Amino acid sequence: MKRIMFCVMILGALIVMAYTLFSNNSATALALSPLSLESDQKHPVMLTKGRALEQARVMWDFFFNKSADTRPSGKIPVQALTRAQLLAAPDNMVYRLGHSTVLMKLNNAFWITDPMFSDRASPLRFAGPARFHAPPVSIEELPPIKGVIISHDHYDHLDHDSIMKLEGKTEYFLTPLGVGDILADWGVPSAKVRQLDWWQETEIDGVCCAATPARHFSGRGFFDRNRTQWASWVIFGRDRRVFFSGDSGYFDGFRQIGDKYGPFDITMLETGAYNENWPEVHMHPEEAIQAHLDLNGKLLLPVHNGTFDLAMHSWWEPFDRIAALGNARIVSVVIPMMGEAVSMHDTAVGMHWWKSLEKNKETSMPATDWSRQHHVKNQASAQGSSAPVSSLP
Ligand SMILES: [Zn+2]
Ligand SMILES: [Zn+2]
Repeated sequence: MKRIMFCVMILGALIVMAYTLFSNNSATALALSPLSLESDQKHPVMLTKGRALEQARVMWDFFFNKSADTRPSGKIPVQALTRAQLLAAPDNMVYRLGHSTVLMKLNNAFWITDPMFSDRASPLRFAGPARFHAPPVSIEELPPIKGVIISHDHYDHLDHDSIMKLEGKTEYFLTPLGVGDILADWGVPSAKVRQLDWWQETEIDGVCCAATPARHFSGRGFFDRNRTQWASWVIFGRDRRVFFSGDSGYFDGFRQIGDKYGPFDITMLETGAYNENWPEVHMHPEEAIQAHLDLNGKLLLPVHNGTFDLAMHSWWEPFDRIAALGNARIVSVVIPMMGEAVSMHDTAVGMHWWKSLEKNKETSMPATDWSRQHHVKNQASAQGSSAPVSSLP
């Protein structure tokens, strides 16, 4: 009986996750603000290509037909961090802690994006994608946090346990519209929560944060598709400008954000969990590079990879491809180990650390016609941005 119950629960979790990932149910009721609704209609997203049968095949492959390479065969190297180290660090340091979780020191205070410290990105503790590596630092060991910045409500970005553990040491939570209500429901004091719509700004102790557009979707279950906003974020410290994509497909919003807020010292752009069957909600490496150029970024830190198995590509493919593209398009790409310190002007850390784990394996660079589809030219030299400082080999 217990076994049957267990199977039913697993199946239920898989269905919830599959619905979140693949369903194209319309549910465009983003009734949060006229601005949001307008934005949503302007950038309607197709979650998966094809009709129901093809979507069912994609779902089947996702759950039952993955190659073994989607997870690392060995241990991913992690550089452990201590509170003392972090407190002693200079301003404008960045630490990737895994997936889209990035810790930043700005104006002598700590900020963190999409904190995800739990073992699984899932509504269930015992099923769903499990992380490849431990976080480089525990929430308990983290110094006090000035601001937690959330991009959207998907489980790999908005994690209940991480939020609740952080609550006691965090002054502010910045969220897109509607996501802050979830935090309040969980017990985060509403005085700590600031909810922003696209293009709205807020300032905290000299750090200016703006919620900016993204091409994605939201929802944590069957009945809440697109009920909360999703966003990218612009974060200005005293003398540095940061862009965080959250989750987003490639779209012309990056150019608009670059025009309004660029140039950026560092762009933290998602490239991972991409697939040709869901091209509009996540970026292939080629698109992340283009988004970085559109944003007028100097240093590109790819995120949303290397921690969870959320697609069909090998776990190291995003690193291989974006490193090669960075070289080819004269873009400074930094791929640190988890926990490795990155200065906002570094270019020489984490060089190909993932290669040693997967010897004898090469990523085949697909002959993509992405550039043609998007009418994109190589703009690196035209823009003169992103100097080819000792880039990746
Ligand atoms: Zn998402
Ligand atoms: Zn995600």
